[in-house]
Amino acid sequence: MKRWIKFLFFVGIPICILVIFGLSYYFGISPRLKLNGKDKIELNLNDKYDEKGVIAKNLFGNTKFKVKVKGKVNTNKVGTYKLEYYVKSGILTKKIYRIVEVKDKIPPTITLINGNEINVCPNTEYVEQGYSATDNYDGDLTDKVEIIKGKDFIKYRVKDSSNNTTVVERKLIYCDKDAPILELKGQENMRITKYSKYLESGYTATDNCDGDLTANVSVTGSVNTSKEGTYILTYSVSDKEGNITTKTRTVKVYIPSTSYNPQYQNSTIYLTFDDGPSASITPKVLDILKEEGVKATFFVINHNDSLNYLIKRAYDEGHTIALHSYTHKYNLVYSSVDAYFNDLTAIENKVKNITGGTHKIIRFPGGSSNTISKNYNIGIMSALVRETANRGYIYYDWNVSAGDAGGGAKNSSDVYNNVVKNLSHNKTNIVLMHDLEKNYMTLNALRDIIVYGKNNGYKFAAIDNTTPQVKQKVAN
Ligand code: ZN
Repeated sequence: MKRWIKFLFFVGIPICILVIFGLSYYFGISPRLKLNGKDKIELNLNDKYDEKGVIAKNLFGNTKFKVKVKGKVNTNKVGTYKLEYYVKSGILTKKIYRIVEVKDKIPPTITLINGNEINVCPNTEYVEQGYSATDNYDGDLTDKVEIIKGKDFIKYRVKDSSNNTTVVERKLIYCDKDAPILELKGQENMRITKYSKYLESGYTATDNCDGDLTANVSVTGSVNTSKEGTYILTYSVSDKEGNITTKTRTVKVYIPSTSYNPQYQNSTIYLTFDDGPSASITPKVLDILKEEGVKATFFVINHNDSLNYLIKRAYDEGHTIALHSYTHKYNLVYSSVDAYFNDLTAIENKVKNITGGTHKIIRFPGGSSNTISKNYNIGIMSALVRETANRGYIYYDWNVSAGDAGGGAKNSSDVYNNVVKNLSHNKTNIVLMHDLEKNYMTLNALRDIIVYGKNNGYKFAAIDNTTPQVKQKVAN
């Protein structure tokens, strides 16, 4: 009995005291945690997460506890975030949790190239026009677009990584509402002299659905060149759906005011092109000359060697390659006789290396009548005119100018008019033009000039050693 009391006294009572003390500490002194706001929160992507915190309070109303948070919410990233709030109180740690879900609810966007409604040629397969898909969260989803083909529609479907789906439909309308495109080569308003020969300059017709319809073009009307008057030629073409395009050409047969003499029927036009070659213009100039069976003269300068093939091509196709200048810099070329010949020899050697031929026909930069050379050397043009002849060169100026290099021409009809108005059966027509880079106005006038010449009794030729020299008046 005694031992039992002893035990109770020395072990049991202290345990009881500890338990009572512990329980009261736990229930009374240690804090309780309570979330401010909901324990489960759903946010849209990029929303702001507003941390409401927790309340920590013990039974005695004490709130001075340090609550810490474990975990973070990244609202720029889709996901489920768990936040742990905890507080340490003596040997105990109290915890509470909050779940925050960040969701992407915005579906992707699909953009259709050429619109949501498209005309498709009858009896043809629709050719995909292209599309793109982007998502606010996943970025470019174009590769993930699924295509569903219907009889008269195409559906485009795409899903983002949060399963938001977008479907866009393109309506296919089987029809051909576009008439063929009919283009007349040469002038739509022509003037030709009485008793000359009318040559059709040609035309092309293409249709969006039927392709090349040039062979289907019908021409009505005719030109009687033995009778003065205005003649109208009508060109017409229809596609399979019956869309018709019509164009007209007006040809005026006239008696030139200067007495027209049939004996000059064989006078010649020498087309000359300065300052080339150029990648954009020279090949097309050569194409037109070839198609029209016309030879011309190219007064070349130094350009990048990648353009040498154009000099070779022009030479091989029977055109004359003549020398203009290596640098085309007036201050350099006209500083002295030696400087001029250094420059000339440089371009001569370059051309010779390309063609393997001999090139002695030249044109002075600015022409022999230029006055700009006065700025660099008084009297140099007179000296060069003599000296070039002494050294076996022959120079050509011009007596018809296209005005296409700072000469006032603003478009192809200016170029055309500048040339045709100054052609004459009573002279050697040397026509100055430029195959400069991007000089489209000259390119676009060229065929018309040739057609005009042919219609009006001219021949075309490249300058050679039989061509009468055309010189301007030396002014320095
Ligand atoms: Zn020039």
